[in-house]
Amino acid sequence: MVMDKLGSSLQDAIKKLVSSGRIDEKTVNDVVKDIQRALLQSDVNVKMVMTMSKHIKERALKEEVPKGMNPREHVIRIVYQELTSIIGKGTDIPLKPQKIMMIGLQGSGKTTTTSKLARYFQKKGLRPAVICADTFRPGAYQQLKTLCERLNVAFYGEEGNEDAVGIVKRGLKEFEKYDIKIIDTAGRHALEKDLIKEMEDIHAICDPDYKLLVLDAAIGQQASEQARAFNESIGISGVIITKLDGTAKGGGALSAVSETNSSIAFIGTGETPEDLEKFEPDRFISRLLGMGDIKTLLEKAEESLDKDELDMEAMMKGRFTLKDMYKQMEALNKMGPMKQIMQMLPLGGLGAKIPEDAYQVTGDKLTRYRIIMDSMTEEEMLNPRLIGSSRIKRISRGSGNSPEDVRELLKYHKMMQNAMKGMRGGKFNMQKIMKKM
Ligand code: GDP
Repeated sequence: MVMDKLGSSLQDAIKKLVSSGRIDEKTVNDVVKDIQRALLQSDVNVKMVMTMSKHIKERALKEEVPKGMNPREHVIRIVYQELTSIIGKGTDIPLKPQKIMMIGLQGSGKTTTTSKLARYFQKKGLRPAVICADTFRPGAYQQLKTLCERLNVAFYGEEGNEDAVGIVKRGLKEFEKYDIKIIDTAGRHALEKDLIKEMEDIHAICDPDYKLLVLDAAIGQQASEQARAFNESIGISGVIITKLDGTAKGGGALSAVSETNSSIAFIGTGETPEDLEKFEPDRFISRLLGMGDIKTLLEKAEESLDKDELDMEAMMKGRFTLKDMYKQMEALNKMGPMKQIMQMLPLGGLGAKIPEDAYQVTGDKLTRYRIIMDSMTEEEMLNPRLIGSSRIKRISRGSGNSPEDVRELLKYHKMMQNAMKGMRGGKFNMQKIMKKM
């Protein structure tokens, strides 16, 4: 999880609130103080922190507690809403054919993010192509070319040629048939005149639908200055904050952008092409607060299950074969590591009760089960009852596991089969399955 430090400080504050006897002025003041400290340590602007504190205090003590909510939940909700409001609304980049121009200073993570963005659209089923117009930084061409090749993303660049505008022109021509054209432009150490001129020239040629400014989270609240300066010189449609995984100043960077006329479209959370997240403020804050994000979880679950065409109706009628189980495990696998899935479950629910090493066991076990199933025949997968002791021996030998492991898998399948039968209403009951696991 990104911004661990801020997250855990905020979660501590919430826990204190949850365990306090009653909600009075002192309790609210204490919680607000803890939140203030956490935000200031994360480099959030002092004025912003003070304004937010005032809002929380006023609302917590004056607003009527909504029906169906206890006073603690009421305060937690206010904290959640106020935190969400300081990071702005987020910019939605639609999933449709378009041209995107990437801008930003050198070292901000622009080139890496360009390839991550291509990967993002690729995963959504659109065809991306990347043009390297960074003719300033030595090595930029090779770096981007390699990244794109690894992802199987179309790439255009002209090594050694300094005419960025010409490159963009030819690249766009070559990529006419692609859905998404992403143009990586050059950066400088500061927003200098020649950089502005170059951006304007490229802009005039490519007429992008979106101009995304890439900012390194480590600059903290200075993000507002940079966003403002780029916006005034060339105009930006959204911001991508990178390296949120590696700095204590993430809160500052995220909140500072909302002070300007722009907002955040994506966040970078690591070095691999998969480490780019669409920025959704409410989800982001609920995860930061450890409040879980059932919506993300369910959508993720549905996404992976759709692709695997699990026949839910048949399964609920009790026809749950080993093959179904295999598909289900693959789907779970795609959703990410167990731990990540658990983190999305609500506070006080499953997520909080599972000891650290349990994730590991669960993940390992799933991998072993899949290896065992790879050694089964189609017939056995469809009809596990056929698997008697001689077949168990053969499968265990074939998969390099013990017969006990195979038996355990068959037992596990039975348990899952029963869980499936127990489900009602046709909705995929994730929590129930997790519990059984
Ligand atoms: P550019 O000069 O703006 O094109 O910057 P690069 O794309 O070359 O990135 C500079 C460094 O930051 C590289 O080492 C990247 O791997 C790293 N980087 C970029 N984005 C992230 C991120 O989200 N997390 C982490 N940890 N590193 C990142």
